[in-house]
Amino acid sequence: MKNKIHKYDFLIVGAGLIGSIAALALCKNKFKVLVIDKKKKIPVDERTLAVNANSKDFLSNLGIWASLKSKPQPINKIIIKDYINESPLIFENSSEAMGNVILNSEMLKIVREKLENLKILKTNIDLNPNILLPNENIIINKENYIFKKIIISVGKNNNLNLNHKSIKFDQGHNSFVGFFEHDKDHQNYAYEIFNPYGPLAVLPSPSNNKKKSTFIYSTKNEISSRQIQSLIKKKFKQSHGQLYFEKSMYKFPITPHLRKNNKDFIYLGDSLKSIHPVAGQGWNLGIKDIQKLIMMSRTYPLSYKDFNSIYYSNRIFESTLYFSFTSILNYLYENKNPINTKIIKVGYSSLSNFQLLRDLFIKQAMGRTNLI
Ligand SMILES: Cc1cc2nc3c(=O)[nH]c(=O)nc-3n(C[C@H](O)[C@H](O)[C@H](O)COP(=O)(O)OP(=O)(O)OC[C@H]3O[C@@H](n4cnc5c(N)ncnc54)[C@H](O)[C@@H]3O)c2cc1C
Repeated sequence: MKNKIHKYDFLIVGAGLIGSIAALALCKNKFKVLVIDKKKKIPVDERTLAVNANSKDFLSNLGIWASLKSKPQPINKIIIKDYINESPLIFENSSEAMGNVILNSEMLKIVREKLENLKILKTNIDLNPNILLPNENIIINKENYIFKKIIISVGKNNNLNLNHKSIKFDQGHNSFVGFFEHDKDHQNYAYEIFNPYGPLAVLPSPSNNKKKSTFIYSTKNEISSRQIQSLIKKKFKQSHGQLYFEKSMYKFPITPHLRKNNKDFIYLGDSLKSIHPVAGQGWNLGIKDIQKLIMMSRTYPLSYKDFNSIYYSNRIFESTLYFSFTSILNYLYENKNPINTKIIKVGYSSLSNFQLLRDLFIKQAMGRTNLI
């Protein structure tokens, strides 16, 4: 082993979408960064992401948006329906698209290539994140390193323990994701339908015409592909015409959690929190984590003793709101009783009757508000 010590500003553990994008943003701000991932191969992720307006701007500034070759599909209208109220809730924004749907795997490939070009990514490194410490010697591939800050972005399915406590909310949901083509144009509308057994989202999918959509159905119940397809057919035949499903359907366990603070680490993305996908905001919150980190790195020296705590208390606030909102929403719809029905009706009619409230909802969904 050589004696030389490599000195860096940041170690990022986990090169998923959030860790990789954080690395590019920190490099752009002239920090010295090393990223490690335990896997060599880029995982195949057959999901789509609804990227909100704030995240799109952020990706554009980093030169990532312009590299997307498949056509991101704008979301111009969001239509929400449920099994309790008669009329739908409609959210529209005239000045810009509320979000854009992109392919996860395409973006991950682009950001990983950028990391490779910058020569800041090391894969196949399976360090135990529980024993890492900032400003202490860390051995990676037989070389000595010292990092001022350690960022943990290992997602939610990880082996963090003891030092990385989490509050869990296990709803036992699974999300089923797939694609279908259809005869009619999707008109760039996104749908969220609250069914008695779980929410169903249908979004326009990247494609050369407007005749491909993707769905995410989340439920606690055992359900077959055939049952999901017939539910979607029933709900979307009128708006989308004849539907033709792709054979593969992918299953993702949903395990919402909030990470407790640990002064030695900065948690980003799903390592800090993961929320039910019903609001389509999990990854967008990860982008806000990165934006906050960049802002703090410009404001405070990395050696500032309260750096990590200030970051954490800021980001856990919005994360907790989303965590609670999505969990409560699912709970209310899944547990039909007179009280829950009343609460849903009041919320629904407030959104339906007050334009101001709807505008606030739209701004929040677009990532255009800062809660603190
Ligand atoms: C069905 C579904 C649909 C969704 N749709 C949306 C949406 O429309 N909009 C939205 O905003 N969000 C959405 N989300 C949420 C979004 O997918 C996640 O928030 C986001 O992908 C998390 O990214 P991440 O980089 O934090 O974690 P991950 O993508 O999980 O990346 C973690 C990385 O860390 C690596 N790693 C793990 N352990 C270690 C270790 N010990 N050492 C080194 N590396 C390690 C892994 O190999 C991986 O590369 C959805 C989620 C689901 C389940």
